[in-house]
Amino acid sequence: MSSILQALSRADNYDPNALHADRARELVLGLLAPVAGTEKVFVRQALDRVLAADVISPIDVPAHDNSAMDGWGLRGADLAAGETRVKNIGTAFAGRAYAGKVGAGETVRIMTGAVLPEGVDTVVIQEVARVEGDTVVVPPGQQAGQNTRRKGEDLQAGKPAIPAGRKLRPAEIGIVASLGVAEVTVRRRVRVALFSTGDELCSIGEPLTEGAVYDSNRYTLWGMLTRLGCEVIDMGVVRDDPAALEAAFRDAAGCADVIITSGGVSVGEADFIKQLMTQLGEVAFWKIAMKPGRPMAFGRIEPNGPEHPGAWLFGLPGNPVAVMVTFYQFVRPAILKLAGLDPIPAVPAFEARCLEAMKKSPGRTEYQRGILGRDESGAWTVRPTGAQGSGVLRSMADADCFIVLEHERGKVGAGDTVTVQPLAAIV
Ligand code: AMP
Ligand code: MG
Repeated sequence: MSSILQALSRADNYDPNALHADRARELVLGLLAPVAGTEKVFVRQALDRVLAADVISPIDVPAHDNSAMDGWGLRGADLAAGETRVKNIGTAFAGRAYAGKVGAGETVRIMTGAVLPEGVDTVVIQEVARVEGDTVVVPPGQQAGQNTRRKGEDLQAGKPAIPAGRKLRPAEIGIVASLGVAEVTVRRRVRVALFSTGDELCSIGEPLTEGAVYDSNRYTLWGMLTRLGCEVIDMGVVRDDPAALEAAFRDAAGCADVIITSGGVSVGEADFIKQLMTQLGEVAFWKIAMKPGRPMAFGRIEPNGPEHPGAWLFGLPGNPVAVMVTFYQFVRPAILKLAGLDPIPAVPAFEARCLEAMKKSPGRTEYQRGILGRDESGAWTVRPTGAQGSGVLRSMADADCFIVLEHERGKVGAGDTVTVQPLAAIV
């Protein structure tokens, strides 16, 4: 038996005919490692990319001790138990060093961000102090050191400012800029080749013949992959023909990290798709205990042997909703791992009161599509989006969450609590 299949079957609880959805996800993640390639990009090009090496801060941030507020800068040691009276000797502006020194019994007016003049370690906010001629009267209750920001308080020179494995969101982009750094090293994008299989599939621009359906899976997959930052190689529709399929698998394995196919993996499908996958690599056919999306193939395609370029394979079912659900539940975390995200962020989930009863049998995880709301008390509610057939793509389009019905759970009554995953965190 080949090495991947061995790894898969050594795993405890491995049952290819009723694999627990959580277990399948763990098995996939356990086999993958981030893509090796990196590239240097300018800070704005780095948005949504994954950092490949720590960003080391070349400077302290803040670079100087400075004031956090508009107010009066003075020596903390001068603060008396009652009122403190100090003499105003000048003003310290942001971006301009204050020339003089502030001695005992003295103060300067200081602006937010201004470097603390020599002698100043405390700032009293403008609103609480009273000015009498050139004397500033500070009320009791002030603390030495207050309202100041210390050099290196946020980031220290020579230390990591952003760790490798982090996705660069606007906050990280801002930090990079705050360090005066122009370029960062990110992982190359994950390359994903995809094709649809099925003789019934028609493409946009072709008339819909008797019994045919337009291929929508390549479009949802393209959209989901693009949003994950992948480089997508769309190989079109491949007919249920062994030679055409073999050529497609060979091409894809030569240029991509991941191959995604849809259709052809369920019972009763033209057997040669499964045969081909097995011939060209090491592929396990899983019947995951889930709905929708029960049949799925996972493994590696290595047409010229393991020492030559190959690709991970996700053979997804053909039904449009099953494609989306299996993608979000299995392929998405896999792509995040390949992309180098570390840690892989957990999918946020919370509880909501289900407004309608739902059928559910214990022994499989179900991912229903739902619409969130709030009741009078502000608590979250959810209702399913009408017909939940795995061919009804509208049920995904109308939804703003998955309703996750756990493996062991039985039917849901109206008013029962269910777990929801907001799609905004996933799509
Ligand atoms: P299969 O898994 O190949 O048996 O397909 C299951 C169902 O999904 C069938 O009704 C197919 O017509 C439909 N289907 C398969 N591939 C696609 C596709 N690329 N776009 C839209 N529907 C599809
Ligand atoms: Mg088919």
